[in-house]
Amino acid sequence: MRVLNFSAGPSQLPEYVLEKIKDQMMDYEKCGQSVMEMSHRSQEFKGIIEKTEKRLRKLMNIPDNYKVLFLQGGGSLQFTMIPVNLFGENKKAAVVNTGAWSKKAAAELKRLEWIYGHETCVIAASSEEDNFSYIPKDFDIPEGIDYLYICENNTIYGTKYKKLPDTKGVKLVADLSSCILSEPVNVSDYALIFAGAQKNMGIAGLTVVIIREDLIKKDDRIPAMLSYYVHADKESMYNTPPTFSIYVMGLVLEWIEKEFGTLEKLGEINRKKADLLYDYLDNSKVFKGTAAKEDRSLMNVPFVTGDKNLDAEFIDFAKKKGFVNIKGHRSVGGMRASIYNAMPYEAVEKLVECMKEFEKGVLGNV
Ligand SMILES: *Cc1c(COP(=O)(O)O)cnc(C)c1O
Repeated sequence: MRVLNFSAGPSQLPEYVLEKIKDQMMDYEKCGQSVMEMSHRSQEFKGIIEKTEKRLRKLMNIPDNYKVLFLQGGGSLQFTMIPVNLFGENKKAAVVNTGAWSKKAAAELKRLEWIYGHETCVIAASSEEDNFSYIPKDFDIPEGIDYLYICENNTIYGTKYKKLPDTKGVKLVADLSSCILSEPVNVSDYALIFAGAQKNMGIAGLTVVIIREDLIKKDDRIPAMLSYYVHADKESMYNTPPTFSIYVMGLVLEWIEKEFGTLEKLGEINRKKADLLYDYLDNSKVFKGTAAKEDRSLMNVPFVTGDKNLDAEFIDFAKKKGFVNIKGHRSVGGMRASIYNAMPYEAVEKLVECMKEFEKGVLGNV
């Protein structure tokens, strides 16, 4: 029996994708091998990676002057690759600190000080003083920076930019690891977008970078594996790419096309799913959401009872009913329901039912 999996990542995959992997496991499209076994230079794999890129370009409406790269090293390697490649005359970037992932990005930026011999990272704004419960707005863009860095959806704290900051012409770089493909974005608003695949578009091992072409510059001082130029020049085949992860991402995109057609439609459904949960949280006497209302994420919904023991009781109660990975991130506690694209509306309904039942029990005891 499959559980109802609310994991923040790696996360649930659509059953369509799992079934298709199963069907193609022994013999991918009559080539007598599985995708895991084939050469990344083979015609079959070439077909897979090209189709995957084409589907992503179509769904996200990626303009022709943007390159799509299929890389490894997780979202976390981008914290280093971005500055190493995008630093211009200032060799400095600004970060909006909205939680653990932007903090890590800032820490990696700072680590480069020994190379450049000056301050490489400034914090443009932060919501740390309020436990990252909101997205800072109306802050000044620091002078003398090469780009502004944001984490668009904060997986741990459940906040999301509803409007991008006005960068006053400064390049915008964004981590979309936990919200890519959840609703339409205007790619032209960004200099660079990146996202690990394991949250909303596949499995671990693959990170997708979408970068404006004029920002890809040849620089032989940059180590090859860290260079966007090298990866772009070799069509993501400088070395062996994560072949199976790319294949799975292709199937996830195929599923989105078949099931929803467009990101507009998928976004509508995601909003309905999130509203269902937030509406309940807003009216519950036992549970409450922790993110500021206007900044609430469609993908990650953290909530608490306000009592650690009761939180633990609920997590156990839910687990017995088949809801797993509902425990909040170890740094914040409480609960978190990650309701990515693959989570059906009906599953969120079931979760709300489960919470209502728990609430009734609690209120009956007082
Ligand atoms: C998970 C996550 C990351 C890190 O991804 P890895 O692939 O584990 O390195 C970065 N940013 C955000 C927003 C994430 O949710």
